[in-house]
Amino acid sequence: LLGPDGEVSPTIFAEMSALAAESGALNLGQGFPDEDGPQEVLDAARRAISAGLNQYPPGRGVPELLHAIAAHQKRFYGLEWDPGSEILVTAGATEALAATLLALIDGPDDEVVVFEPFYDAYAASIALAGGTLRPVPLRWPDFQPDLDELESAVSDRTRIILVNDPHNPTGTVFSAEVRQKIVELADRHNAIIVTDEVYEHLVFGSAHTPLATLPGAAERTVSISSGGKTFRTTGWKIGWVTARPDLLTAILTVKQYLTFVNGSPFQPAIATGLGLSKEFFSGIAEEMRRKKDVLGAGLRAAGFAVSDPGGGYFTVADAAPLGGRDAVQFCRELPARAGVVAIPLTAFVTAAHRPRYSSLVRFAACKKAEVLDEAARRLSTLG
Ligand code: PMP
Ligand code: GLN
Repeated sequence: LLGPDGEVSPTIFAEMSALAAESGALNLGQGFPDEDGPQEVLDAARRAISAGLNQYPPGRGVPELLHAIAAHQKRFYGLEWDPGSEILVTAGATEALAATLLALIDGPDDEVVVFEPFYDAYAASIALAGGTLRPVPLRWPDFQPDLDELESAVSDRTRIILVNDPHNPTGTVFSAEVRQKIVELADRHNAIIVTDEVYEHLVFGSAHTPLATLPGAAERTVSISSGGKTFRTTGWKIGWVTARPDLLTAILTVKQYLTFVNGSPFQPAIATGLGLSKEFFSGIAEEMRRKKDVLGAGLRAAGFAVSDPGGGYFTVADAAPLGGRDAVQFCRELPARAGVVAIPLTAFVTAAHRPRYSSLVRFAACKKAEVLDEAARRLSTLG
């Protein structure tokens, strides 16, 4: 019983990508890039395969990658993690999240505070772990949580506050006040903070701030990221966890029985990526910002109201001005009406709260410039 409300069905991403393939529509639904990432990273994987790195790697990960993750955390955030006891490589951020939730949740009395809408795997992993999801709403158009609502959701029953920043599906980057409040509440109620930072290098304003960098937070924070979005290698599924040794050991204990190990030749390749120049990292953020500008302008010209995302792959648009009060219906018809696939925001929301999001649609901006231009052209025929 794994959907936001326990329904059993294919994920919304699988359903919408199948619809795109079937109808020939442009796929602005599932968030994956349609171009390869840096050549150095691709070459490093080829070299690793040729060099025979094709058997089980060590359980925590290939040492070269563990050291590269430590160096990257130090270089960008000033955080120090011991590669031998505080870093774990996982099968994408997805396994990192699953192993963390399975390791830290004991049963239904353990609550996980999650900002809603939320990435679909969160509800599924919390359900698999037997915990209780406690949503805190993010509201159109800025999608920042209300600090009082956040405060009232966190209690001594809170085991974990799960924070995805930059956020999928809204593209929001949380404000400094929100970050501070999360750390304060976790401290007050002795909760663990779990962060999902897969879009850490796709932030448009000032640089990404990991929660683990806030005073006192590193001890109680499990930070999760992945190479998929940064290096456009979503199919490689190389993710990682950084946490203090006691937390990390609990997560490693679960990971070893989920997948044991993963992706040996891709690990040194992601290590190469993490060591790329500052210009590479600022370049991908700038490129994504340009893509969002093109997409946003296209959506506005077509008649949507559009949010102003601070990072990540996605832009949220309100279809109500176009008569799309029911975004599920709107998204089902969109391939035939305009040759574009997008995802209704209600797919990321528990049933009781769907009316709040009923006319909102998520569009993926992580596509080639010509695809975004063509999508804008097609959407302009909607009005
Ligand atoms: N978290 C969020 C917020 C995501 O958008 C994604 C992307 N699919 C993931 C986790 C999964 O990352 P990975 O592909 O590394 O498992
Ligand atoms: N993270 C991507 C998205 O949100 C794809 C995830 C998936 O296909 N499971 O679209």
